[in-house]
Amino acid sequence: MSLFETQSKEFQHRHIGPNEAETTEMLKAIGVASLQELIDRTVPPAIRMNEELNLPQAMSEAEYLQHIKEISLKNKVFKNYIGQGYYDTITPSVILRNVFENPAWYTQYTPYQAEISQGRLESLLNFQTVVSDLTALPLANASLLDEATAAAEAMTMFFNLLNKDQHHVTRPKFFVDKDVFPQTKDVVVTRAIPVGIEVIYGDYGSVQLDETYFGALVQYPNDKGSVEDYRDFINKVHSVGAYVAMATDLLALTLLTPPGELGADVALGSAQRFGVALGYGGPHAAFFSCKDEFKRSIPGRIIGVSVDAQGNRALRMALQTREQHIKREKATSNICTAQALLANMAAMYAVFHGPDGLQNIAKRVALLTQTLANALEERGYDLLHEYFFDTVVVKVNDATPFRQKAERQFLNFRYYDNQHIGISLDETTTPSDLFDIINSFVNDVDPVAYELQHEDTLDIIPTSLTRTSEFLTHPVFNTHHSETQMMRYITQLQNKDISLVHSMIPLGSCTMKLNAASEMIPLSWMHWSKMHPFAPTAQTEGYAFIVKELSKYLCEITKFDACSLQPNSGAQGEYAGLLTIKAYHESRGEGHRNVMLIPISAHGTNPASAVMCGMHVVVVKALENGYIDVEDLKAKAEQNAANLAGIMITYPSTYGVYEETVKEITEIVHSHGGQVYMDGANMNAQVGLTAPGLIGADVCHLNLHKTFAIPHGGGGPGMGPICVKTHLAPHLPGHVELSNQQSAISSQQNRNAVSAAPYGSASILLISYAYIRMLGADGVRKATEYAILNANYMLARLKDQFDILYTNHHGACAHEFIVDLRPFKKSAEVEAEDVAKRLMDYGFHAPTLSFPVGGTIMIEPTESEDKDELDRFCNALLSIRREIALIEEGQIDKKDNPLKNAPHTMFMVCSDEWKKPYSRELAAFPLPYVKTAKFWPSVARVNNTYGDRNLVCVCLPTEMYAEA
Ligand SMILES: *Cc1c(COP(=O)(O)O)cnc(C)c1O
Repeated sequence: MSLFETQSKEFQHRHIGPNEAETTEMLKAIGVASLQELIDRTVPPAIRMNEELNLPQAMSEAEYLQHIKEISLKNKVFKNYIGQGYYDTITPSVILRNVFENPAWYTQYTPYQAEISQGRLESLLNFQTVVSDLTALPLANASLLDEATAAAEAMTMFFNLLNKDQHHVTRPKFFVDKDVFPQTKDVVVTRAIPVGIEVIYGDYGSVQLDETYFGALVQYPNDKGSVEDYRDFINKVHSVGAYVAMATDLLALTLLTPPGELGADVALGSAQRFGVALGYGGPHAAFFSCKDEFKRSIPGRIIGVSVDAQGNRALRMALQTREQHIKREKATSNICTAQALLANMAAMYAVFHGPDGLQNIAKRVALLTQTLANALEERGYDLLHEYFFDTVVVKVNDATPFRQKAERQFLNFRYYDNQHIGISLDETTTPSDLFDIINSFVNDVDPVAYELQHEDTLDIIPTSLTRTSEFLTHPVFNTHHSETQMMRYITQLQNKDISLVHSMIPLGSCTMKLNAASEMIPLSWMHWSKMHPFAPTAQTEGYAFIVKELSKYLCEITKFDACSLQPNSGAQGEYAGLLTIKAYHESRGEGHRNVMLIPISAHGTNPASAVMCGMHVVVVKALENGYIDVEDLKAKAEQNAANLAGIMITYPSTYGVYEETVKEITEIVHSHGGQVYMDGANMNAQVGLTAPGLIGADVCHLNLHKTFAIPHGGGGPGMGPICVKTHLAPHLPGHVELSNQQSAISSQQNRNAVSAAPYGSASILLISYAYIRMLGADGVRKATEYAILNANYMLARLKDQFDILYTNHHGACAHEFIVDLRPFKKSAEVEAEDVAKRLMDYGFHAPTLSFPVGGTIMIEPTESEDKDELDRFCNALLSIRREIALIEEGQIDKKDNPLKNAPHTMFMVCSDEWKKPYSRELAAFPLPYVKTAKFWPSVARVNNTYGDRNLVCVCLPTEMYAEA
C-alpha cells in the first residue's frame, strides 16, 4: 500500500486497540488461525451479511475536521430570540474546557460503583440542590431527558398515584393550560393516549375541575412569556384532590416566587440556560422536583447522602428499587440514561456564579426586556401581557414585513401566528442588541433611541410574585467564584472518579469504547452549538445534511428503510419503536393487539417501555444455555395470537450469544400477526456482519452512546434513534415544528412526538456521524470483529479459573461474556459485589454486575482496548481469584479479607492503625502495575440501606454543614 493509501485507514488504527502483532498472539491464545476463522465460529452463517456495507470511504481525522467545518458553515448563525424553552447562554470557559471538553468528565459511566464516582455524585447532588432551592421543593432528581418528557413523567406519576387500580380508573383527566409550550403538549399527548389518559386543554383561569381530574400542568412564565399567579388555581386543583405540575425556568425563579411556595406539587423544566449550548435541540438536562410525599414514585435517578464502612459521608444513587432494572414492568418510569453531563454543567454554572451572580444575570435579562417593552410601547405597539420576565409578545397586523426586516438583520423572533411576534431575551443579550431588535419595528429613517431601565424600576414582575426567599446558601455555591478556584474545584471532583482516561471500563451491554477527540471537537464550534432547534430551515442546512446522511448510514447498517433521530435515549427509542408498532396495528384495524412478549433476560427498560405503550407484558422463558426457549415462545405466541402485538428481543442476546434460532423466533411472531422489536444495545456485535433487518426484525433502536461513540457522560447524554422497515415508516415520531415548516406533508405530522426537539439531542449526532465517516465500511466492520476478538481473548484467558456462562457450541462468545461468581459464595462467602469492589483496588471499574444474571459479572471490552490493557484486567481478575482461593483454603478469614474490606482508601492504608490480617501493600498495591498508576477510591464501601432509610438528596443547609 502506498503511503497515501494508508491515510484512509488512519483512524481505524487509532480507534481499534490491538495491532497486527498483538492480533496474532491473541488469535493464538484463542486457538484459531485467523480473525476470519474466529468470526466464522462466532456468527452463525445463516444470519451473515455477505456484501460490504454501502458507506462512504473513510476519511483521516484531518480530512474529517476540514469536511465538518465546511458542513458547519451551511448553518447560518442568527441571534436567536425565539425562546420557547431554548435560550442562548454563555458557557463559562472554565466549564467548557474542564467539563464539557474533558474526557475525565465525559467518558465516565453512570455512578453505580459509588466508591469511584464521588466527584460526579457530588456535582449531581449540587444539581439537585440548585433545582430544589430554586423551585422550593424538597426532592429533586439528577436530571431527565428534556422539559417535555419531564412534563409527561409528572403526568404519569400523578395518574398512577391517584388511580391505584388500573382496571378501574376513576380519574382519567389531565388538564393542560393552553399556554404550555406546544412541543410539551405534543409529548404529553403521545404519552397520555396509550395508557388511557384524557388530556383536556383550556384556560386555567376558567376551567371547571371535578374529581375526574388527577392533575394539571401550567407553565410559569408561560408560552407567551406571561407571569401568571397560579395560587387560586392550585387551590382549586387541590380541592378536587388532584395534583399540579408547573413547568418553569430556573433563571426566572431567581426573581419569581418559586413553585413550591405557590403550592405546586411538582416543578419541572430545562436547565439548558444554565450554561449549556443550544445545540439545535440538545443535549440539555431537564429537572424535576417535588414534595416529599412523592419520594417512592419520583422518576429518574436520585443522588443521596449515606455513609461508608468507615462511618464517613459518602454519596450514591438512592432508592434504586424504584427503577426499571429491578421493578421492570412495575417501574416508576423507563428512564435509564438521562443527562448527567449536562446536569453537571448546569450545576457548575451555579457553583461558578453563585446566588448573587445568577440573580444579576436574571435582573439584566429582565431589565433589557422591560427596556424593550417600553421602547415598543412608545412606538405605538401593543404587548400581549403586562407581567413577564424575558419574553414579550408584540401584536402586529401582518408579521411578514417585520420578519423580513428582522431576518435581514440576522435576527430570529418567534412567530406565533401572523399577528403575534415573540421576542425572548437571554444572558447573551447586550444593551446594543436592543438597537437591532427595535429597529425591526421602526422605519429605517428615524434613529433608534431608548433609555436603559434602572434596576429600581423593574416593574415587569408583580410584587405578589417577587421572590423573597433565599437560595443556594450552601458554601459550595458561595466559594468557587474565581477561575482559579473553579478550575481546582472541578479538578478535585474529577480526581475522585474513574473514567476511560484511567483504564478500561468493560461494562457488558454498555459498550464503553473510545470517544475520539476528533469526533468531539466540532461540538464546541458555534455553527453547531448556537443553532436554535426551531430556527427556520433556511438557516439549518448543515444540520439537515447531517440528519439526512446519518439516517441513511444507520438504515444501511441496520438494513432498514427509514429512521427517526428523535428519541433521546435507548429507552426512549424502545418507547418510540413500540409506538410505531402500535400505530401500525391500529392502521390495520387491529388496535386490540396489545400483548408484548419479552424474554426473561431482557433489559429492565424493555418491559417498562412496553407498559408506557399500554401493552401487556408476557414473559418468555430462557433455556439453560441462555437461548430463548423456542417451545415456550411458540406456546405463548399461540395462546396470545389474537392479541399479539409483538416481541422485544436483544440480539446477540443479553447473555452475549448469537442465537442460531433467531430467524425461527421472528418467523413465529410474524406468523401470529406480531411485529419484532430489536433492542439494539448489542449492535456493536452486528455492524457489518449481520443486521436486524436481515434476521427478521421490523424495528430497532440504536444506542448511539454505545455502539456509535457518543460518550456516556456519567449517565447521559444519549441518543436512541429508531430504524424501521417501510411498513412502519408512516408511524415514526412527528414534531410540531416539522409540520409548521414543511407546510404539513400530512396533517398528522406532529403525532407520536417523543422528544421536545425534532431531532432530539441533535448536536451529538455529529459524534456518530464522525465515527462512521472516519471508519468507513471496512472500519466499522473491523470494529465489530475486534470487539469479538477482544471478548474471546479475555474469555480464553479467564475460562480455566472461572465458570463462563453461555458460550456457543465452539465455546465462543460474541462481543461480551458472563463470568459466574455464584460458586464463590458457597466456597468462600464471596459475593459478586466483593469482586466488583476489590477490582477498584486494582484500578478498575467493575464489569456489569448481576445483569442479566444475578451473582455474575458481564465483561465487554470493546474494540478500543489493546492487548496490554486486556491483560492487565485479566491479571487483576486472576489475582482476585487467587485471593478467593486463599479464603477457600482457610488461609485468610472469611469475614476479614481483602475482598470484604474493599475498596481500601488511602486513609485506611496510611492510617497509624492497621489491624487487618493481610498487609497494607496487598490491600493497595496487589499487582506491580498498580504501583505505577494507583487510583485511590475516595471512600470505603458505601452503605446503601442507611442512605435509603435516611433520605437526604440535597447539600445540607449551612447550619448543619457548620455543625458537621
Ligand atoms: C443500555 C441498554 C438499554 C437502555 O438504554 P438507555 O439509553 O440507557 O435508555 C436498553 N437495553 C439494553 C440491552 C441496554 O444495554
